[in-house]
Amino acid sequence: MEKRVDNVLTWDEYFMGLAHLSALRSKDPNTQVGAAIVDENHRVVSVGYNGFPTGVSDDEFPWSREGDVLTSKYAFVVHAELNAILNSQRSVRGCTIYVSLFPCNECAKAIIQSGIKKIVYESDKYNGVDTNIASKRMLKAAGVELVRISNTISIHVEKKINEESSTIE
Ligand SMILES: [Zn+2]
Repeated sequence: MEKRVDNVLTWDEYFMGLAHLSALRSKDPNTQVGAAIVDENHRVVSVGYNGFPTGVSDDEFPWSREGDVLTSKYAFVVHAELNAILNSQRSVRGCTIYVSLFPCNECAKAIIQSGIKKIVYESDKYNGVDTNIASKRMLKAAGVELVRISNTISIHVEKKINEESSTIE
């Protein structure tokens, strides 16, 4: 029997899929972001999603986008990329980070300083915003490779579900 060639995920689709799965753990009512860090041998090193620091309760701290520093989420939330870096049990030097949304300028600093060499991302919805421009400027200066891929994982899953439901009928 020949090996399967259709409906097999590429490495990029697989790891971006993992980033998306991680994002679904986020309690953020507006933006769920996930990240997966992978080494040169295609082994998963770490995952993360946006959330408050350990011990900072989702019930007590605000998830709002509106309001001042103390009543909105921005001062408290840890982004997916930083969580993935901090969650890692080993050095992430030389690794690739898969992230569903292009990293902000704060995460870009952490990515550069941790030695991650490549970013594979999907959405770039803040393209052109000052913090996004700052992020790209730093990442390019530091020689971090930036690769954008389209959202193909959901197409795979949808196709699979459709095929399965058509065999059930
Ligand atoms: Zn960030």
